[in-house]
Amino acid sequence: MSQTIDIAEFQNTLEYAKAFDANDPLKNYRDKFFFPQHNNQDVVYFTGNSLGLQPKTTQSYLQQELNDWAKFGVEGHFLAKNPWLSYHELLTDKMAKLVGALPQETVMMNQLTVNVHLLMVSFYQPTKTRFKILCEAKAFPSDQYALQSQLKFHGYSTEEALIEIEPREGEYHIRHEDIYTAIEKNKDSLALIMIGGVNYFSGQVFDMKAITEAGHKAGAIVSFDLAHAAGNLKLQLHDWNVDFAAWCSYKYLNSGPGSVAGAFVHERHLKNADLDQFAGWWGHDKETRFLMDKKFVPMQTAERWQMSNAPVLSMAACRASLDIFDEVGMDVLREKSKKLTAYLEFVVEQINKKKNNCLQIITPKENRGCQISIVANGYGKALYNQLIEGGVIPDWREPNVIRCAPVPLYNSFEDVYRFGVILTNLLK
Ligand SMILES: *Cc1c(COP(=O)(O)O)cnc(C)c1O
Repeated sequence: MSQTIDIAEFQNTLEYAKAFDANDPLKNYRDKFFFPQHNNQDVVYFTGNSLGLQPKTTQSYLQQELNDWAKFGVEGHFLAKNPWLSYHELLTDKMAKLVGALPQETVMMNQLTVNVHLLMVSFYQPTKTRFKILCEAKAFPSDQYALQSQLKFHGYSTEEALIEIEPREGEYHIRHEDIYTAIEKNKDSLALIMIGGVNYFSGQVFDMKAITEAGHKAGAIVSFDLAHAAGNLKLQLHDWNVDFAAWCSYKYLNSGPGSVAGAFVHERHLKNADLDQFAGWWGHDKETRFLMDKKFVPMQTAERWQMSNAPVLSMAACRASLDIFDEVGMDVLREKSKKLTAYLEFVVEQINKKKNNCLQIITPKENRGCQISIVANGYGKALYNQLIEGGVIPDWREPNVIRCAPVPLYNSFEDVYRFGVILTNLLK
C-alpha cells in the first residue's frame, strides 16, 4: 500500500478493506484493547474521541499498585515498586513527548476543567484596559462555563468581555482569517485566547502555531484546550510557543473514565516568581516539601501548579496507555489516521451517491484529525439509535450531529467498511 493517500485507489469493498488492514503496520495493536461486544462480534467503536477503549495491560498496572497498597499500607509511598511519592514523575517524559513539550513544562494532575481554572488563575489577570477573552463559538460547554465564571469572578460580564468567533452564516466551521481579524481588532483589550485545539463538535483543527503567533503579536496570552487533540494530532506546544494548555487523558489517550488530566506551561513562565497561583503542598519545592514549612516555595516546573498528592490509581491506568503511545509514536499514528479517516470520508461519499446526498460531512477536509462529524439530513437521533442497535458506537451531539472517530491504534479499515454497510441499510 502506498504511503500517500490516493483516494482514487479506495474501494468500498470488504476485500479492499482487509487488504489495507493486512498492510497496516499497527495491525497488531487492535488486539491489545478490549472491545465491547455486539452479537458476539466487536462493535464498530468510533468513540475513541469520547472514551478510549481499555488497553489489556491496564489491569496489571493497577494491580501492581493495589498489591503494593495491600502489602505496604502507607509505606508504599516509599516501598512500592513505583514509589507513590514520585509516581506522577513516571508519566511526565512520555506525556511531554506526546504533546511536544519539555518534561519540565508538563504535569499530570487533577481533571481537565480544574486545570483550565487553575491555569487561568495565573494567566488570566485582567487589567482595566486588557480584559477580554477570545474563544471559538460552540466551545465545549465546560470551557464556556469556565470562561464565563472566570469573567464573572473578575467582575466582567460575558457580553462585554467574551469574544466568540463563529462560523459565517451557512457555514459549519470557523475561518482562520476571522480569528485573526478579531485578534487584530481587539489588540488593545485582549488578555487571553483560549481555543479548543480541535473543536469537539465540528472536528475542526485550529492552526495552533499561527493563532499563538497572532495572539502574542497582539500582546495576549494564548492557551488551548487539547481534550480532542492530545493523542490525536502531533502537537509541538513548546516550539509553537503556546503559553499554557490542558487536556484530559480518557479520550484519545485511553486512560479510563475521569482519569488524571494533563497541563502544560511554557518554560518561560515556570520560574516567574511574580506569577499568582493557587498553591497546595504538592506544588512546593520537592526538596523541602516535607519540612512542612509555612512559606510556599514553588517548584520551578509545571509541577508548581500541582496541589494535591497524586491520584496513583488513575495514574497507573494512564501509564499503561502512555507506554503504548510511546512505543508507537505520534508520527506513525498520524500517518495511519489520515488514511483511515480519508477512507471513512470516501465510504460516506459512496453511500451519498446512492442515497440522495443525505449525509453532509461538516468537518473541514484540510483541518481534521480522526473525527468526522456528519449531519444526516432528514434523519434525527433515531438514526443514531439504530446504529447502536446495529453494532456501531458513534456518538450523538445535539442538535443534529453524528460524530465518528476511527482511531489509528485500534480501529481498522474493516471497521470503516462495516460501518458503511450498516449505515447504508439504515438509510431510506
Ligand atoms: C471532554 C472535554 C472536556 C471535559 O472536561 P472534564 O473536566 O474532563 O470533565 C472539557 N473540554 C473539552 C474541550 C472537552 O472536549
